[in-house]
Amino acid sequence: MPTILTHAIAGAAIAQVLAPCSRRHEVTWIAVVCAMLPDADSIGFRLGVHYGDLLGHRGLTHSFLFAGVVAVGVAAGLWNKAKAGELLQTLVCIFMATISHALLDACTNGGMGVALLAPFNKTRYFFPFTPIKVSPLSAEAFLTQRGVSVLASEMAWVWCPSIAVMVTARWVRCRQTPELT
Ligand SMILES: [Zn+2]
Repeated sequence: MPTILTHAIAGAAIAQVLAPCSRRHEVTWIAVVCAMLPDADSIGFRLGVHYGDLLGHRGLTHSFLFAGVVAVGVAAGLWNKAKAGELLQTLVCIFMATISHALLDACTNGGMGVALLAPFNKTRYFFPFTPIKVSPLSAEAFLTQRGVSVLASEMAWVWCPSIAVMVTARWVRCRQTPELT
């Protein structure tokens, strides 16, 4: 996996593009959390769940179905507070932020692939192009040469494009609409 911070940055960038302008701040923070959420499955390691199981790492929580359920749940939470258009934008934004996690994992060069179609299909997928170096699981490992090279690959392939998207989106979007939140 890329580091959790890298997933958060990607989620923030997606929200700057897709979140409704009137709820951009609120939805951005939710998108950041949702982009990190799939790795909650790491808890399974402590509970004896095997990596390759449906509930194992990069399993069900890294699927399109999970992203859809999360997106519907977030939109439902805003049901009485947002207009229909805002709800639809929020739904799409949160879905994309959540599934971005799995898609980035599928761009890494290690671990098992991602169960994008779980629970209907157990196949673990990688993209043909895997430029992101897989992150070590321990924090100490980031103090090694390998940790430095992992962060360098994440900065090149995720941080820089995400920051470029965020800056551009802030200039292009939501300039005429007053912030309501
Ligand atoms: Zn992951």
